[in-house]
Amino acid sequence: MDCIKTKNLSFQYPGNKVFDFADINIGEKESWLLTGNSGSGKTTLLHLIAGILTPSNGTITISNTPINTLRPSQLDIFRAQHIGLVFQKSYFIDALNMHKNLVYFTGLSGQKADPDYIAKLLSDLKIAQLSDKKPAQLSNGELQRFSIARALVNKPGILLADEPTSSLDDANCKRFTDLLLSISRAYGVTLMVATHDARLKSEFVKTIKLN
Ligand code: ADP
Ligand code: MG
Repeated sequence: MDCIKTKNLSFQYPGNKVFDFADINIGEKESWLLTGNSGSGKTTLLHLIAGILTPSNGTITISNTPINTLRPSQLDIFRAQHIGLVFQKSYFIDALNMHKNLVYFTGLSGQKADPDYIAKLLSDLKIAQLSDKKPAQLSNGELQRFSIARALVNKPGILLADEPTSSLDDANCKRFTDLLLSISRAYGVTLMVATHDARLKSEFVKTIKLN
């Protein structure tokens, strides 16, 4: 469970314009949609919150931690413990089955896999029966559900999803978004979904729009 606050946040890629972001105040366990046209800075904002990019100015506070004050090694640990990321395309290792992929990604963050937790997660995501399949044997929709499992495998308080439905057809888009919202609620996770996908608008009450 984590809340997210930003203050006077700005960022500039070298040679590009300055992005000034309105202050954000997201409470624990809330679900927010981050919208705006392509190029409006959605991915940039998610990467700032994840501590992948460093702001030019301003502060980002996750729960009680101003993340910009952390040393790089502390920030890596903080990210691994607090933030799960879901992308447009899912990244898994072709040679490993899905269960082994999840164990592998847990290990990357220095944590030990928790078999009971993984089993419950896969069952809640309705993909337990697919865990001995390899990535190439799964559909896009199934892989995206495993992306949620991967993002939650280290029990983070925050889930950040960047255009997670762009590769999904309408039926899978709706199913996936409902799952993302219900699993976030069930696991007490604070959710931020960045997208230009208009199909998601009706699913969220709280919205941040970038111009
Ligand atoms: P969105 O996710 O809303 O489409 P982005 O945050 O990806 O927007 O990008 C915002 C702007 O910053 C775009 O104009 C993009 O070209 C530019 N940009 C993104 N990444 C970089 C980078 N690594 N270097 C320079 N400019 C970048
Ligand atoms: Mg983007």
